[in-house]
Amino acid sequence: MAVEDRVIIAGAGPVGLVAAMRLADRGIPVLVMEANPDLAIDLRASTHHPPTLDILDEYGITQQMIADGLIAPTWQFRNRETGERAEFDLGLIKDETAHPYRVQCEQHKLTRLIHQKIKDWDNVEVWFNTRVEDIGQDADSAWAVVDRGGEKLTVRGRYLIGADGASSAVRIKLGIGFEGVTYPEWFVQGTTSFEFRDYMPNLSLINYVSDSDEWFVLLRVIGKWRALFPSREGESQEDAISDASLQKRLNGIHAKAEPYDLMHKTIYRIHQRVATTYNMGRIFLAGDAAHLNNPLGGMGMNGGIHDAVNLTDKLTAVWRGEGDAGLFDRYTRQRQPIAVENVQAQAERNRKLLNERDPKVRLANFRDTQKTASDPKKARDFLLRSSMIEGLRRAETIA
Ligand SMILES: Cc1cc2nc3c(=O)[nH]c(=O)nc-3n(C[C@H](O)[C@H](O)[C@H](O)COP(=O)(O)OP(=O)(O)OC[C@H]3O[C@@H](n4cnc5c(N)ncnc54)[C@H](O)[C@@H]3O)c2cc1C
Repeated sequence: MAVEDRVIIAGAGPVGLVAAMRLADRGIPVLVMEANPDLAIDLRASTHHPPTLDILDEYGITQQMIADGLIAPTWQFRNRETGERAEFDLGLIKDETAHPYRVQCEQHKLTRLIHQKIKDWDNVEVWFNTRVEDIGQDADSAWAVVDRGGEKLTVRGRYLIGADGASSAVRIKLGIGFEGVTYPEWFVQGTTSFEFRDYMPNLSLINYVSDSDEWFVLLRVIGKWRALFPSREGESQEDAISDASLQKRLNGIHAKAEPYDLMHKTIYRIHQRVATTYNMGRIFLAGDAAHLNNPLGGMGMNGGIHDAVNLTDKLTAVWRGEGDAGLFDRYTRQRQPIAVENVQAQAERNRKLLNERDPKVRLANFRDTQKTASDPKKARDFLLRSSMIEGLRRAETIA
């Protein structure tokens, strides 16, 4: 077998690693190239939706995440001033998924579980310290020009997947547009071991809390709460991420005499963007390289994993001679509209609900959400949408 008889993947994030695991499991050799010396430890995704859990269960990963994470059978919108809740019970979709709950488990645990699983397979290689700098293709192969620990190499494969995140070199080198918006506000995140449940009754493990002054999201992972806030108009990045600002924001959730123990803090620029195509010849984009959305709803990584599943099914069919390269256009046709019309639309709707400052409109919105949550038919439809099951099913109907 020629050395280039493989799929090469830029990026060992959750999307690149899921793609690698699925291809290698089907007997297709894979090389993953990761710019960093190790897998990232970033506090980004924590929510895994039911269909993603169904997908990862085929590889035994879901049970490992449950062992190293938390099952969230419900999640809620909450009105901070009144303490009222609109709680969604994922048990309502138990006939649609083997996992009628979200699992709260950090994405750096997921990438480590996958890497641990595949690292000794004889048809997978993961190269760290390997930055993709340029790419190219001809009729039979695709290649990446990489810097591997200071040495320049050209690495070839039959196909190349760009799973290299938001600033994707693969996307940029292909000249593919990345259309959309960058939000004016930043999202600031503080992590604390303080147990809010002792003071805020009936919290779920995932809570979107609206407020006339400042909304926040409270997410539980093992041993800590992550609190997410928007920056204020005119507030500088430095001010928003300062200890003083985070202490003030956390005290806005629950005022206490002692300072909060701030275990971690971070600030993110938020975009809603989508690549103008996800495929060009033998080269593909998946995950954040292809689309970005705001994190309200926890859908970016989940959607990227769904891309990886769709794309690797098509790559497998073409590799085995069971389909032709026209399938790759179908990958874009199926996944790109879901990123815009399902994921970005829902994430933006969540942001609008939380950002609403007019007390009357906010209350009316909240009552609507409560009505949806308390009507089993409406709640079920809403959960099929927010759990990303509807988007996956819709993609399958696109020829
Ligand atoms: C605050 C926050 C909370 C979030 N919460 C959730 C959530 O709960 N649920 C959810 O689904 N999503 C969530 N997301 C989104 C999620 O984090 C991303 O969608 C996800 O990380 C995308 O995975 P990826 O593999 O496509 O890209 P990344 O995770 O960015 O991985 C890309 C990898 O490629 C590597 N790389 C980059 N450039 C190169 C190069 N040139 N050569 C080689 N390697 C390269 C990087 O080092 C990295 O390891 C959240 C995001 C934020 C900001």
